[in-house]
This record gives sequence, C-alpha cells and structure tokens, in this order.
Amino acid sequence: MPDVCLACLVCGATQEFAPLFAGCPVCARQGRKAALEVRYPSRCAEVDSSQPGLWKWRSLLPPVRPEAIVSLHEGSTPLLPLPGRGVTRLFVKNETMNPTWAHKDRPNCVTAAVARHFGFRQVVTISTGNHGNSAAAYAAAAGLRCVIFCNAHAPVEQTRLMRHYGAEVFLGGDADRLAAALMARGDWFPALTICPRSGFGSPFGVEGFKTIAFEIFAQLGGRMPDRVFVPASSGDGLYGIAKGFRELVAAGQAPRMPRMIACQTERANFYVEAFREGRRTVRAVHPVETVALSIGDEIGGLPALWAVYDSGGEALEAREEAILAAAREYARMGLAFEPASSAALACARAHPDYGQADETWVLIGSGTAIRWPQTFAADDPGPRHLEPGFADAGAILPPGS
Ligand SMILES: [Zn+2]
Repeated sequence: MPDVCLACLVCGATQEFAPLFAGCPVCARQGRKAALEVRYPSRCAEVDSSQPGLWKWRSLLPPVRPEAIVSLHEGSTPLLPLPGRGVTRLFVKNETMNPTWAHKDRPNCVTAAVARHFGFRQVVTISTGNHGNSAAAYAAAAGLRCVIFCNAHAPVEQTRLMRHYGAEVFLGGDADRLAAALMARGDWFPALTICPRSGFGSPFGVEGFKTIAFEIFAQLGGRMPDRVFVPASSGDGLYGIAKGFRELVAAGQAPRMPRMIACQTERANFYVEAFREGRRTVRAVHPVETVALSIGDEIGGLPALWAVYDSGGEALEAREEAILAAAREYARMGLAFEPASSAALACARAHPDYGQADETWVLIGSGTAIRWPQTFAADDPGPRHLEPGFADAGAILPPGS
C-alpha cells in the first residue's frame, strides 16, 4: 500500500512506512525533536466485518501483513447514555469492556501487530499501570518478549498482573534512559508514546486510539459529537481520538471536528496551564501526587495540546475530591471507572455550558476501578462483620428499613 507514509507533525516532511522511532529525521538535522505520524491519503473509514477486533477498521490502520495481525477482540465498546442536565446529552464510552479493562488495548494491539510486521521479536515499554498490563497481554498474544520499566512506587497489583502475562518487570531506576538504551540496540520495538521522549517514540500506538473516534461516530448514527472529554496525561489517547475524527472529516464522511477537551487533575495540570497562557508548549509539573494515577504524569506530549487548540477545545482540571465524587457517581450507575476516567465526568459536570448547550458530549471512560483497590478502600469502613451462626435479620435490617 504505497500511499501510506509517515509524516512529521512539525515540518510535514514524509518518510516511507518503516520502523522509525527517533522522530522526524529532517527536524533532527535542525536540532529539533518532532513526532512522526501515519498518514493515509484518500482513505475512508470502512468496516470490514471479516477482521477481528479493531482490525475491522483496517482501511485506516497501518498496512500490516495479514499474518502479523494480533487481536484479543478489543474495541466495539458500548457508548452508554448518562443522566444529563437541561439540553446537554451525555454519553460515556465504556473502555473497561476491552480485554485488559482499559482503552490502552487499542494502541497495544496495533503496536504488537506492527512489531510483528517488521520482524521485531521484543517490545519495551515504560508504565506503572494500565499501559504496561496491556502491552504485556498483547506481547503475550503476539508471541513477543516484553520488558516493562516501572516507577519504584508501582502498585503490586499492577506489577503482579504484568508478570502473570509473562512480562519482565523492573521497578525503579531511570526508566527513560533504560528504555532508550534498549532502543539504541535496534532490535527492540517501543510500546511508547508518539513523542520522541528521551529520543524515542512510536508513531503507531495512536493509530489504535483512533478507532475510538470511528466507533463513537458510528454509534451516534453517523454524527459527530459536539465535545469529547478525554482524561489526558501523555496525551496519546486524546491525540489519537482527535486524529480519528480528523480523518473522518478529511474523507468527507463528517462535516467538522468535535471540540477536544483535555481533562486533568489539578495536581498534574500541565495542559491546563499551557492552555490558560495560550502556549503551544508544555512545562513539567512536579512532584505529582494524585488519586488519578493514570493521568499523573509530570509532562505530556505536544500533539494532544495542539489537537485541543486545532479543534476549538480546551484543557480543564478537576479537584481531587471532585474526581473521587465522580467515581462514586459512576459506581452508583453500575460503572466502576478508575479515578482518571472520572476526571472527565467531573470536568463535564463543572463546565458552565453543562445543561445550557444543546449538544452531545462524550466522556471517555478509559479504565477500570478494579486496578486501584486502595484508592476506593481509603474512605470505606468495609462490610459489617457478623458472628458465626448469627441469623437475626431483624437486628441488622429491621422490617421497613
Ligand atoms: Zn520534521
């Protein structure tokens, strides 16, 4: 498929579809780091029902050989209506229905397939939670070796599951430099973000996130939502979803982009600070201590910030208490989302246009509460314990109570 290429997000220079992980070589020669992305001239998002999982969108995914395709039947997650207010219609895209209970399965599915397509046998990533588990699962499904460098404080529930999938997990150290050292060997494929952090990034993961946009558009009956609230930290999720909507517009399938809303915690709000000041660059915030660990990075990629500006969107922050309250609100609707996902609900509910705008808003429910048991146990006294043989229902639950 010769029409697919890699293009620089800064200078626009194109490269052939190849395993390029150091960003744009033209910009690099001028001393700049710039990300590459996959471009598909004149393609439409068409469903091919013969393909498994997200590969049903294969016409707008990297052109891998059929035998390289990996799938755990990710994607096709529900778009659920939520109780709204006034004339604003709310939906949540429930990404916990993916194989490892998070939207990260989409990028990792594409990453594993592209790695196999180019003949790589091992992947390396940096993660403390959802991404690492998803990378481990898809590497296992693809028969690839997987090495994960984790923050020294990574919860044991997360690292145990990574190892259960067969990944080699390292805690602590300088994860960026360790991953870069492996990448420099030339035979490791990165399950990393699009921005060439520490010199290396991957154009391919965001291609998986894109399918969230295709599904939302289809689930709304071929209509664009007006605003999409995305928990944002590395920014790959937001950028990938925005790219999907952009490609629908470019193909003439939709008239306009939705506004992309980056949702952050007040404790890791580098996009919010940049947006407030009208900057197109981000500055690291640290130290980060938040209940919403999945959006607790100190800094994120620029493509997400640019997508916010380009779509007429905004970057919003929620207080930690509002995030936990939103998580409880979701739970009372039967939806167990992690705090990071709940930031999207908190930001939407606090928006001055909420209830006033005659619009359709979609929230991305990116990951599950199950991964973070301590967070939800903190203010829960637990169940009431009864003595063995206790059977006096009237004493604990009087009739009419
Ligand atoms: Zn460039």
